[in-house]
Amino acid sequence: MSLLKRILVTGGAGFLGSHLCDRLVQQGHDVICLDNFFTSQKTNVEHLLDWPNFELIRHDITLPIWLEVDEIYNLACPAAPGHYQYNPIKTTKTSVMGAINSLGIAKRCGAKILQASTSEVYGDPEISPQSEEYRGSVNPIGPRACYDEGKRCAETLFMDYHRSNNVNIRIVRIFNTYGPRMHPYDGRVVSNFIRQALQNKDISIFGDGSQTRSFCFYIDLIDGIERMMNGTDDFIGPVNLGMPSEITIKQLAEIVIELTGSTSRLIYSDLPVDDPLQRRPDITIAREHLKWDPSTSLKDGLLETIEWFRSIDLSKYRAPTPHY
Ligand code: NAD
Ligand code: UDP
Repeated sequence: MSLLKRILVTGGAGFLGSHLCDRLVQQGHDVICLDNFFTSQKTNVEHLLDWPNFELIRHDITLPIWLEVDEIYNLACPAAPGHYQYNPIKTTKTSVMGAINSLGIAKRCGAKILQASTSEVYGDPEISPQSEEYRGSVNPIGPRACYDEGKRCAETLFMDYHRSNNVNIRIVRIFNTYGPRMHPYDGRVVSNFIRQALQNKDISIFGDGSQTRSFCFYIDLIDGIERMMNGTDDFIGPVNLGMPSEITIKQLAEIVIELTGSTSRLIYSDLPVDDPLQRRPDITIAREHLKWDPSTSLKDGLLETIEWFRSIDLSKYRAPTPHY
C-alpha cells in the first residue's frame, strides 16, 4: 500500500470528525467525509471543499454505501446527551447499523477500521479511575442507554468482525473532549457554560455540581486517535483516550466565568437521570502502547475554545433539539 491512503471518515462534518478531516487532508490523503448533518453543518468543512483530495458525501450511515477505501474512522453518531436522546431509537440504529455498514466496507475492501467508542460504556462507574478492563455499570433501560448500549454493541460487532472475519480493527474509548466547532447548542457542559458566560446569562448547573468529568482538548484527542490507527496491528484496543485529571462541574463553571470575565451567576437544577457522578480515565495503556499523553492544560484549551465561541455568529447555528 502506498503511503497516501483513501480514507473514509463517517461523521466527518462533526466536531471531532472535521478536525480529523483537516489533518488527514493536509497530510495529502484522499479523504471522503460522510455525514447526514444531524448534529453538524457544512460550515465545519467548508474550507476543505476546494481541496482536490477532499470529497463530501451526504449520507446516513444506517443505510449501506459502496465505497473503496484503505482506512475508515467511524465517528458517525450524535454525542451530546440532548442530541442522542432526541431520537433514541435512531441513535441505537446509528451505532449498530452504522457499525455493521462500516465494518462491511472494511471487510470487503480489506480496510483498517477504527471505532470511536466512549467512556459511556462504563456507565455510572463504581470505580475511579476507569481502566479498560472495568466492565461498567450501565442502566440498559434508562434514557442514556440508546447511546451507551449502542456503543457497547458496536464494540461487540467490531470484536466479532475481527475474530470471525479477520477485519483489522481499532477501538478507542473517548472521554469528554471539547474545543472549537462543538455545536454551540449541543447542550454539552463546555458549550453551554461558555455560551452562557459570554452572554452573561445564568450558568446552568445540573445537580449540586459535585459530579466530576475529565476534559481533553481536541488536538490531543485527535493525536491519540491517529496514533491508534497508525499503531501496530497487534494492539487493537479498546484503549481509553482522555484527560487523566478530573474536576467538578461547579469548578468548571467557576473557571469559565473567570476566563470569560463574565458576570453570570450559578443556578442549580435537578441532575438528569443516570448522569454519571464521576468519570476519569486510567490512560496507562495509551501511555504504554501509543506513547500518548494529553498535554494541553484545561486553561489553555478553554481559552482557545472561548475565542472561537466569541468569533462565531450564533444565529447561523440551528438548534436541533430543545435540550439547551
Ligand atoms: P458530533 O455530534 O459533533 O459529531 C457526530 C457527527 O456524526 C455529526 O456530524 C453528525 O451529523 C454525524 N451523524 C450522526 N448520525 C449520523 C448518521 N446516522 N449518518 C451519518 N452521520 C451521522 O460529535 P463529536 O463530539 O464530534 O463525536 C464524534 C464521535 O466521537 C461520536 O461517535 C461520539 O460518540 C464519539 N465521542 C465523542 C466524545 C466527545 O467528548 N466529543 C466523547 C466520547 C465519544
Ligand atoms: N451539565 C451541567 N450543565 C449543563 C450541561 C451539563 O451541569 O448545562 C452537567 C451534566 O449533568 C453532566 C456534566 O455536566 O454531569 C457533563 O455533561 P455533558 O452533557 O457535557 O456530557 P456527559 O459527560 O454527561 O455525557
